[in-house]
Amino acid sequence: MKNIFLYDVHTHTNMDPMIKELDNIVSICKDRNIVWNAVGTNLEDSIIAVEQARKYKGQIFATIGIHPDNCKDITDIEKLEQLYLNNKDVIVAWGEIGLDYHYENFDKSKQQLFFKKQLELVNKYNLPVCIHVRSAEEDCFEILKMVKNPNKIWIHCFAMGPDWAKKYIDAGYMVSIPGIVTFKNAKSLHEALKFIPLDRMMVETDGPWLAPVPYRGKTNYPHYVQFVMEDIANKLQISKEELAKKLTANAINFFGIK
Ligand SMILES: [Zn+2]
Repeated sequence: MKNIFLYDVHTHTNMDPMIKELDNIVSICKDRNIVWNAVGTNLEDSIIAVEQARKYKGQIFATIGIHPDNCKDITDIEKLEQLYLNNKDVIVAWGEIGLDYHYENFDKSKQQLFFKKQLELVNKYNLPVCIHVRSAEEDCFEILKMVKNPNKIWIHCFAMGPDWAKKYIDAGYMVSIPGIVTFKNAKSLHEALKFIPLDRMMVETDGPWLAPVPYRGKTNYPHYVQFVMEDIANKLQISKEELAKKLTANAINFFGIK
């Protein structure tokens, strides 16, 4: 199974601890034919994502945005717009942005304001957008109706059940499946897999967190995306080669990579 071309659509090599190990990660992944998106969650790590994508062009692609847990300075959004305009050649999507009501004391109205402001840019530049949503699915789905081109919407770290899978698919979105799929107890996600057409699916690690089995609990590297893909292939009883080919083609298409 070495050397199957895979695209990890969501990881944070732009954060600790991977930021310090980048050269090593790049050499392992080049060897294994794996590319990835370094995903921004605030102004600082978005800038780092762009720097990484520039340094390793064609190996790393950048996305930029303000995660719902990082809604502090609204003027950062203008700075990100400028960052986008200056680096269109290496930035493939906006995000991760969205809503997260998981932790106590979250500021709902502030999160929604940052989310909508960034979706305006998604509309303005007709960009693919990476959506982070946790414990806020209904509100998020409602706000996403403002996106002019729903085919540009991508729900990252999808771990919900069949109902949400169907809703997102009917709405025209892409979904990416994380290493959670390898966890025995993720029953509703296992069930949901059957409702996601293969041409609407991508794979991700969401590293450094959520490492798949057999690395659960450890740092999650981009090349572990292989375990995610293999697990999906096993569950859907399809060939790994075929699935990998499909997932990678989907990502390349979705991000408009030449
Ligand atoms: Zn993430």
